[in-house]
Amino acid sequence: MKLITFLWEETELVGALTETGVAPLRQFSSMEELIRAGVSAAELPAERIPLSEVRVLAPIPRPSQDVLCLGMNFADHTTEAARFHPTMVRESYAVYFSKRVNEAVADGGAIDSHPEVTDQVDYEAEVAFIVGKDAYRVPAERAREYVFGYTIVNDVSAREIQTRHKQFHLGKSLDTFTPMGPCIVTADEFAFPPEIGVRCFVNGEKRQDGNTRQWIYGIQDVIADLSAGMTLRAGTVISMGTPAGVGMGFEPPKFLKSGDVVRCEADGIGILTNFVR
Ligand code: MG
Repeated sequence: MKLITFLWEETELVGALTETGVAPLRQFSSMEELIRAGVSAAELPAERIPLSEVRVLAPIPRPSQDVLCLGMNFADHTTEAARFHPTMVRESYAVYFSKRVNEAVADGGAIDSHPEVTDQVDYEAEVAFIVGKDAYRVPAERAREYVFGYTIVNDVSAREIQTRHKQFHLGKSLDTFTPMGPCIVTADEFAFPPEIGVRCFVNGEKRQDGNTRQWIYGIQDVIADLSAGMTLRAGTVISMGTPAGVGMGFEPPKFLKSGDVVRCEADGIGILTNFVR
């Protein structure tokens, strides 16, 4: 099932995409509530709203907790990151950081270039998974049961802010730096572990082309690692890292500028297109 959050007649609703329109799931006030309760295709109402009449928002527009992210989870991206800045290295453990998301940007929305604080805005196309139920001390072999679904995240980053503060958090958390969507596809539509092609184009030029089978740390590792001492709440978004080809990987770097169009694609999930203002 493909699930969306959308605006219709000035009301924010969640629903499922069907061939005949959007089936609104009015019993849920938010996607996070839907995730906690769970939903099956059998529960869809008869009602349909034409897709042309809705404005699709990010699937979780205002995450109740920071989005969790993996850094340097593709070998080829690890190489380009270390070349860009000596602090961007991964040693024997996964790199985790979080991203503050006051409001996730929808497909079609704007990424602010924040020229007053950065001139190194960069893109990172990623597949993220959403935790389906509270996870605490979940062993790797049971991790699959905790995956609700998948979406696309563009982990937009201000590189000089990311590197100068030791922690990645601030450089990843500027307003509008988390485009997400266009939908959440439920986990049953993918194998586990998923093998999802993920690509990024800037102004039509292909920059990134990877597959989630290249993840160094997979979902099983991540859920086992994080939940060993911390409860992962249902609805948590965990973005699994980006393949090579980000702007900082080029010599000279190709950072984003006002007017650029960034298109992130993931097979079976969709296309997330945003412009830089
Ligand atoms: Mg990233």
